[in-house]
Amino acid sequence: MESCIFCRIAGGAIPTAFVHEDGDAVAFRDIQPQAPVHLLVVPRRHVASLREADDEALLGRLLAAARQAAAKAGLEQYRVVINTGADAGQAVFHLHLHVLGGRRMAWPPG
Ligand code: 5GP
Ligand code: ZN
Repeated sequence: MESCIFCRIAGGAIPTAFVHEDGDAVAFRDIQPQAPVHLLVVPRRHVASLREADDEALLGRLLAAARQAAAKAGLEQYRVVINTGADAGQAVFHLHLHVLGGRRMAWPPG
């Protein structure tokens, strides 16, 4: 989808260093990091949000990609977040997993 920023990043239209990539997903650093390490794991295929994500096998592979991206970034402890819908904090409507680490996380989240 040409108008989608994460489609453009995943497709190589916007040069971006990938921390991890595989056949299904790419992982790169968030432009506005909320932790010392803040990665985004994005499926190559456009899916608007978790609500629209009906491919369960892909969801499993995205979680595996998050695990691999975290390891490659040197994280042993981290949080994985999927904001779903505007009220949950989703601003980019291409499914993505946030991987946050490098500091102690608070709970509950805001
Ligand atoms: P959301 O709020 O939708 O869960 O998360 C979107 C994330 O994408 C935000 O943390 C934001 O900083 C990040 N982001 C938005 N545009 C870009 C971009 O062009 N490049 C990168 N690397 N991150 C982006
Ligand atoms: Zn997209």
